[in-house]
Amino acid sequence: MESEFLAWLQHRVLRTPIAPLGLQDDAALLRLREPDGTVVTTDMLMDGTDFRLGEIDPRRAGRKALAVNLSDLAAMAAKPLAALVSLALPRAGGRALAESLYEGMLPLAAELDVAIVGGDTNSWDGPLVISVTAIGEVGARGPLLRSGGQIGDWILVTGEFGGSILGRHLDFAPRVRESLRLHEAYELHAGMDISDGLTLDLSRMARASNCGAVLDLSQIPVSAAAVRLAERSRDGLTHLDHALGDGEDFELLLAVPPAEARRILRDQPLVVPITAIGQLVAEAGLWQTAGETSRLPLSPQGYEHRLDS
Ligand SMILES: [Mg+2]
Repeated sequence: MESEFLAWLQHRVLRTPIAPLGLQDDAALLRLREPDGTVVTTDMLMDGTDFRLGEIDPRRAGRKALAVNLSDLAAMAAKPLAALVSLALPRAGGRALAESLYEGMLPLAAELDVAIVGGDTNSWDGPLVISVTAIGEVGARGPLLRSGGQIGDWILVTGEFGGSILGRHLDFAPRVRESLRLHEAYELHAGMDISDGLTLDLSRMARASNCGAVLDLSQIPVSAAAVRLAERSRDGLTHLDHALGDGEDFELLLAVPPAEARRILRDQPLVVPITAIGQLVAEAGLWQTAGETSRLPLSPQGYEHRLDS
């Protein structure tokens, strides 16, 4: 099955100056242009954990597998160049499933000029597993890191938060162009993508920058999906709880010096709104205010894979 499938795929992948060969050789050849750095990231998605194949169009799972990796390149302000895709396919219906996964992935790859340069296609008696590795290059300003935040920086985010489980976790737009645009045009101190939950990821950025962070809870952009989810479920979580702790928003989280943050907020240079939600502070940990009220501790919420000992 694998060689037939590769023949099918060979005609569908992009060839770019960086990846001129296609898929016929034993390994991929990349002609990277004297980059200021190459960024590599990998993410593995599993049926039952990251999506439920029985409930969705498999093209959405394929697209998501590429998109989560591109979001991590965006987090570093790296321009995506190439990706490797490895599939562990259930034997029954594996070929049709593989085609559907790629039909979801290839349009996103084409949109952002990403060459699929290799990977592996296996079958087994287990559920679908998709592992994607993405490669990107850093521009003249270097990579955007989590550790560059400074006390007094404003915390900016793109987009809206919460309730992605209702669908956006499959169909989100990785903020690749947005991140490159901001990093090029403005002075950003630190950045990352928000994949595990707004407050959990913010606590990681603050810790990496040796700061704490205060969130103004009155400024959090709450998505309509978070409101729907809070109305629908009986777990007592409010729409704000969902916005602060749900995973898979895949928006950008940035620490920006105040004058530059004001300029970004005034310009609103992206297709997606940018909002200031707080500030980095000297006191370690995560804090909350709501408008003028005094500062209270805020415990980070989000998703982490469980590892039992
Ligand atoms: Mg990330």
